[in-house]
Formats: sequence, C-alpha cells, structure tokens
Amino acid sequence: MTPRERSVAALEGKIPDRVPCVPLIDTSYAAAVAGMPVSECFINPEAYAHALTATLDRHPDIDGLSINIGLSDEVIEDCVKKDGAYRIRTTGGLTWMVPENDIGSIEACDITSTDDPRIATDEYLMRACLRTLRAIPERIRRNYLINTTVTGPYSQVAFLLGVNQLMLATIDDPDGLESAIRQRVPFALRWVEELAALDPACVWIGEGFASNSLVSAETYRRFVMPYERQVVEKIHSIGKTSLLHICGRLNESLESTVETGADGIEIDWQVDVADAKQRVGREITLKGNLNTGDIIRLSPDAIYQRTREVIAQGRAGGRFILSSGCCLGRDTPPDRVDAMVRACEDFGAY
Ligand SMILES: [Zn+2]
Repeated sequence: MTPRERSVAALEGKIPDRVPCVPLIDTSYAAAVAGMPVSECFINPEAYAHALTATLDRHPDIDGLSINIGLSDEVIEDCVKKDGAYRIRTTGGLTWMVPENDIGSIEACDITSTDDPRIATDEYLMRACLRTLRAIPERIRRNYLINTTVTGPYSQVAFLLGVNQLMLATIDDPDGLESAIRQRVPFALRWVEELAALDPACVWIGEGFASNSLVSAETYRRFVMPYERQVVEKIHSIGKTSLLHICGRLNESLESTVETGADGIEIDWQVDVADAKQRVGREITLKGNLNTGDIIRLSPDAIYQRTREVIAQGRAGGRFILSSGCCLGRDTPPDRVDAMVRACEDFGAY
C-alpha cells in the first residue's frame, strides 16, 4: 500500500497493512526541517509547500502530514516588519502578529458584533491553503496523505470575533452567534469545492476553538457540531475523507464528534485512547495521541516505547492512525519522529 492508501483505508474503517504513522506535522516543524523561519511558511504558501516537501524528503517513511492555516498576499492589506516580527492586517478586520520564528496569532479584531457585515463577506484563510496544496508536487500528493485544512465555521467566527467575544456571545448573544456561524458555512463549503479539483486525500477540519478545554459539551452540540456536519457532508459529496482536529480536552464531546459524520478525529494527549476506543472507536477513526511536549523531552527509546503502548490501545479492529496529539513543535528533534515510524513498522501490523 502507498502511505496515502494505508491512511485512507484507516479513515474509511478498512484494515490497512499496518497502523499508519502520521505525526501532526505542519508549519513549525516543517519550517525547522527546511531550515526556514516559521514566519516565512506562515505568510508564503509556496515556501510552506517547499518546507513540507523537504520534510517528506527527511521522513519518507511517515504516511502523511498537514497543511494548516496561513496567510497569502490576496488577503494581506498591510504588512509591517519590525524587529524581525510582522504585523499584518488582513481582510476580516484582523491584525495578526507573526514572530520571526513562530506561526501567527491574532492580535486584534475590528469586528465587535455578530451582525458585522464582514462576517458574511470576508474570506481570509482559504487562498493560502489552496496555494500550498497546489505547490506540492503531484507525485507527493498522490503518494502521501496530505491533510489539507478547511477551518470549521465555528472556528472561522472565532478568528473574526476573537475568542473572548466568541465565548461571551455563547451566553449573551446565542442567536446572533448562530447566525454568524451559519454565514460562515458557505465559505467552508466553497473551500471544500475548490480543494476537490486538487484531489486531496483528506480534508482536515480545523476546530481548535471547539475543545472541551474551552467549551462545554452543550456549546459544542449547539454551535459546532451541526455546522461541522454540513462540511463533512460536502467532503463526502466530493468523494473524500474528513478528519476533525480539536486539540486539548475532548472527553465530554467525543460522542458528538461521531454525529458530525467525520471519518476521523484527532485526539490530544488529554484523551485516553483506550477509553475513546471503547466509546467511539467502532464509528470513527482515532488519530493520536503522543504528547507533543513529551516528544521533545523524552529520548527516542522512550518515544518508541510510548508509541508501542498507544498502538496497543488503539489498534484493535482498525480505525486507528498513530500521531502526535497536536502539531509538532519547531524544536522537536527529528529522531523522535524516526522512533514513532519505527514503532509503527515494528508493532503496527494487523
Ligand atoms: Zn491542535
């Protein structure tokens, strides 16, 4: 099986030749492997594609990696570089702070209300993601699982409003918030449509803001799950698999993630694999869950053993992909990834 076939089989609930090894490699680790500043990958899609390709040259035996969000010149209205860091204004009234060697985060949001018209009009993340995938050579796209992000409707609103405003709105302005989220659904669906032309192995639905570390099970069910389900239906309509990314705690919402219809869910280290396997493991593929901090701190031998344990908890009956719980840090030594791959090869066979 090719790495892509192996991974897609696991997502579809078939039994591959062994457990796929897809550590969550995106912007930071790829930039480090390519010897580039992380900021360059965050604001330049073609540079990001180059870094991801270099990472697959260094780790040809992993089964895939991920294209996470970034910015592109189509959405940048203003960019100032000072002391190595970029301050960037984009459509959607967003001001991003991008340190030289880190991914960007939002410093300020102009939008202060759920009825701001820009919620219905402003695209700000899709282009970078499409351009990154397009710039990865086709032979690589055909061979590996390239999880390509579509930011979920709830998380799109989270970026536009800022997390504080978003979380207050779940209490103060729930109807307005629902309306805002509903207005972002067509953006997510169009994003999926545009990805379809590039034959992605898997569409990766980014909903980091929907973690139980931030929201209750009730909030997830009301403001996240129904809209994720629409995105998943669209992904299935183009014949592709879907993978949800919700890092941090997820213990209270596991069953609700199954109701989205997603093929897979990435679980972070706070979720117990054996427990998740027992609760939802027949209905959704689990992808996880080595602690990214441990991956930096522990020795390759310890990572090898830890990977073996996680495989033993997740493998039964298929529907399991070995991964880190969240995105690998820039400072992750590459031999830790090698140890994860070796353990999958040694203990991942069915
Ligand atoms: Zn995450």
